[in-house]
Amino acid sequence: MDNPAIVTILRAMKMDSDIVIVGGGLNGPALALALAQRGFSVTVVDALPRPERGDAAFDGRSYALAMASVRLLRAIGIWDGIKDRTQPMLEIKVSDGRAGAGPLTPFSLHFDHAELEEGPMGHMCEDRVLRPAFLDAMDEVAGITTISGDAVIAQDVDAAGATLTLASGKVLRTRLIVGSDGRNSGTAQRAGIRRTGWQYGQTALVCAVTHEKPHHGIAHQFFMPPGPLAILPLPGNMSSIVWSESDATAAAFAALSDADFMGRATPPLWRFSG
Ligand SMILES: Cc1cc2nc3c(=O)[nH]c(=O)nc-3n(C[C@H](O)[C@H](O)[C@H](O)COP(=O)(O)OP(=O)(O)OC[C@H]3O[C@@H](n4cnc5c(N)ncnc54)[C@H](O)[C@@H]3O)c2cc1C
Repeated sequence: MDNPAIVTILRAMKMDSDIVIVGGGLNGPALALALAQRGFSVTVVDALPRPERGDAAFDGRSYALAMASVRLLRAIGIWDGIKDRTQPMLEIKVSDGRAGAGPLTPFSLHFDHAELEEGPMGHMCEDRVLRPAFLDAMDEVAGITTISGDAVIAQDVDAAGATLTLASGKVLRTRLIVGSDGRNSGTAQRAGIRRTGWQYGQTALVCAVTHEKPHHGIAHQFFMPPGPLAILPLPGNMSSIVWSESDATAAAFAALSDADFMGRATPPLWRFSG
């Protein structure tokens, strides 16, 4: 924008906030809280209505929070509120093989938290615990404004800042736009940021199971030819399963009833070393 008169007008326009974050999933709120701590005013816009974003129903999604993520959550004031609902990962066992055949080689990897100074190797946390914690934390911070149920549909960057237009017709003026609107980020597309991607021909099936015996905080990774299988400990006698298969096999398993799915998903289909 070369016209000095227009630049002067743009500079004089009132900013709604220093930074507008498009997308209030996980990364958006984490950044918003960190920026607000540093004194920036932040607006977080999410297309989904608030009740849907804080939904406590379990969709099977869980996160393995590495220690760096735990340190981040602690720094932005989230950790103390959720730590009792996370499961420390005390050991990780990695092996490979074929479904039903067990390990193909005698070799495996074993990581033990006892060898680390900082404690557990990470913590497992359900999505339904983490997302509402972010929403509640943002509500409590004065420098953060949240807008739910309204999608950003246009953005325009000029010499003095940026303007965003929402589906409702609302217009936001800001110094900086941050796109954290997921893997099909419209913010990135509108900014002309291209990405490279390719298909692996694999689909990950994600679910959680309850079991009779305790998991002792042990995470298993089992590498099979069609893809890896992870069994990750959740609080109580529950585990999160992330099971990667070829697209066709995964689609067939996903169509099974819960009982039939569990029939396929339980030993002796998988046998681990160690
Ligand atoms: C079914 C499923 C299972 C998963 N399981 C796991 C797992 O077990 N472990 C793991 O580590 N990861 C898992 N993931 C991945 C994990 O959820 C993502 O990596 C993570 O959510 C990315 O966070 P994000 O903040 O970048 O984006 P997201 O969490 O995707 O948030 C993006 C947000 O942007 C909003 N948005 C989009 N467009 C607009 C717009 N135009 N205007 C305003 N808002 C907009 C969306 O409503 C959404 O809330 C899973 C994902 C899925 C879908």
